[in-house]
Amino acid sequence: MWVRMSAPGGSAAQPPPAQANPPPYYPYPPYYYYPPPPPPVIACPRCGASNYYGMERCHACSKYLRGEKHSTVGGILVLIIGIIEMAIGIFITAILGESTASSFGAACMVTFLVVGILAIAGGVAAIKKTSYAMAIIGGVCTCFSVIGILGLVLIIVSKDDFE
Ligand SMILES: [Zn+2]
Repeated sequence: MWVRMSAPGGSAAQPPPAQANPPPYYPYPPYYYYPPPPPPVIACPRCGASNYYGMERCHACSKYLRGEKHSTVGGILVLIIGIIEMAIGIFITAILGESTASSFGAACMVTFLVVGILAIAGGVAAIKKTSYAMAIIGGVCTCFSVIGILGLVLIIVSKDDFE
């Protein structure tokens, strides 16, 4: 129901009829609204201070509040490829066995083992955010695979996650 509060013709507007139990939303001015919900808050991963969700950096310690997932996912991908490289190196070692067959096979074995160790170390560094340089080195060691390249890219773009 609508009631004209100020009639243009000059006649006084009739006040709305009194109600025993007025509804929560009273359909006449002034209008009452429920207060808007508070903006979502996220905790800083470094110092734990509360920050509004839209903020780019922590107001207390200026750490970037987003992007942590990228370096973590990149580190996991690099870590997986590093484990595969280690497994290939161990597999080649098993094939070579006692026989000092070919220097090429031995070179492949050493290469896969070294690259795999570096990739594992880099993946752990990316997950723990300890060393950006180590994470990059580990990512480079997985660049023979698409998954490794993806992990390296994720680490490169999340440089700010590292201390
Ligand atoms: Zn902080």
